[in-house]
Amino acid sequence: MSTLITPAQFAAKMLSFYDKQGRKDLPWQQNPTAYRVWVSEIMLQQTQVKTVIPYYQKFMQRFKNIETLAAADVDEVLHHWQGLGYYSRARNLHKCAQTVVDKWQGHFPDSLEDMESLPGIGRSTAGAILSLAKGKSSPILDGNVKRVLARVFMVEGWYGKASVAKTLWELTEKYTPKKRTGNFNQAMMDLGASLCSRTKPGCEQCPLSSGCLAHLNGQTDVYPHKKPKKEIPIRFATMRLVQNKSGQIQLVKRPPSGIWGGLWSLPEIETDDSHQLVDEFKHTFTHFHLRITVVNAEQFQGVEDNPQLAWHNISNLDDLAFPTPIKKFLYKHFNLS
Ligand code: SF4
Repeated sequence: MSTLITPAQFAAKMLSFYDKQGRKDLPWQQNPTAYRVWVSEIMLQQTQVKTVIPYYQKFMQRFKNIETLAAADVDEVLHHWQGLGYYSRARNLHKCAQTVVDKWQGHFPDSLEDMESLPGIGRSTAGAILSLAKGKSSPILDGNVKRVLARVFMVEGWYGKASVAKTLWELTEKYTPKKRTGNFNQAMMDLGASLCSRTKPGCEQCPLSSGCLAHLNGQTDVYPHKKPKKEIPIRFATMRLVQNKSGQIQLVKRPPSGIWGGLWSLPEIETDDSHQLVDEFKHTFTHFHLRITVVNAEQFQGVEDNPQLAWHNISNLDDLAFPTPIKKFLYKHFNLS
């Protein structure tokens, strides 16, 4: 791979970009303890900054420190996560808090290896916490950084592939400076989230433009290479909506693992034609589409002895954590706001 930019030049350009344009007023940048940075990093996985901010602020008001989070009920943590999606992140967050409190007396460890051993913390998240909160010189490789590097160095292949990820890790290790690593990492994330956007990057204003191979070759729309297309299957689920004489609805708490683990939902049933259709909607997961049919079902089939079933007042739905499409359906159906 031919390159036009040395690690020292790369770092100098990015640090100057940080000084002039880097974000310095995000909530987790104020008093950036390992706890505060960690929560932000987990929320920011698969979610954009502007969506995360209000969730982050509410979360921090309730769970002020790692001890409070570790001592909380996982249901309450999931409730605060409601709407952010990818709920395994919240369950791992809770598990990780308990591990740090039990094993590390409430302090995140200082080494990359120990950090990576914690639930829900991969190499890039570990690098972010170590560099942003602890001043260590650990590189990162989140989605934004991958895009910038794939373009600057015209890295071939889709970065979900192990060999491509390995190349990108080698690049981030080589180009991340040992000093001011936190500022450099922040600058890379900021560049990826602003100028080096997925479509129509603003190369004219970019500090790396004179050394960016994709830009110089007019190939910014080709890099990073896209994921090879694969059709994802459709699965079907039928759920029943049933109210008792007091107007309560029956809900089921889903098992802790699997999709929507630990969240409340409508009970699933085997369907037949005797049920009256209430609504139909689709939700897309990473690996499949789920087409959900909600029916009015008086006949209880196959779920009566489920100890996770419970009746709930419609006015109390706000206290429960639901998957987004189920919440949307219930609120629409019962005219709740
Ligand atoms: S020059 Fe353009 S493509 Fe290259 S890093 Fe900058 S914004 Fe991204």
